[in-house]
Amino acid sequence: MRVGLYPGTFDPITLGHTDIIKRACALVDRLVIGIAINRDKGPLFPLEERVSMVEAECAILSAETGCEIVVHPFENLLIDCAHDVGAQVIVRGLRAVADFEYEYQMVGMNRAMDDTVETVFLMAEARYQAIASKLVKEIARLDGDVSKFVAPSVNEALKEKLGK
Ligand code: ADP
Repeated sequence: MRVGLYPGTFDPITLGHTDIIKRACALVDRLVIGIAINRDKGPLFPLEERVSMVEAECAILSAETGCEIVVHPFENLLIDCAHDVGAQVIVRGLRAVADFEYEYQMVGMNRAMDDTVETVFLMAEARYQAIASKLVKEIARLDGDVSKFVAPSVNEALKEKLGK
């Protein structure tokens, strides 16, 4: 049984994330979405709301792909989280050059801790490549239309959260 771990903050889940999840589902039997509690980052959505938004999207993706998808909030080291959920593979999305430096370091450090867990990088479809949760929140805050970047239910949740 091939188990993958796709970690992130998912504050909130975007169409970039769902594209990566769909692609990862083709590679593993079970995909664990690791939702970083990340108190330091000061997320807009509390953990419970991020989890329920990811779960709602994953129910659709799981039915579409036949891959089992589970959501797992975590606060410990990523490599320890991979051990906890029995993942042999960590899945990360890669956007242009901005993500590279950080991801390069992460792989190096994680390998030093455990060389048996492999990291694979996936790229989203071109129209979803530029999407970042941070920018989606900024656009929504300034009354911009984010319907091209997030699912309709996430768009509604953003409006409600930002009092729009
Ligand atoms: P963000 O960086 O948008 O706040 P996360 O921290 O939740 O998102 O990111 C989780 C993972 O998803 C990371 O590997 C990140 O590179 C990837 N990711 C996020 N958005 C995209 C996208 N539009 N295309 C490809 N990968 C993405």
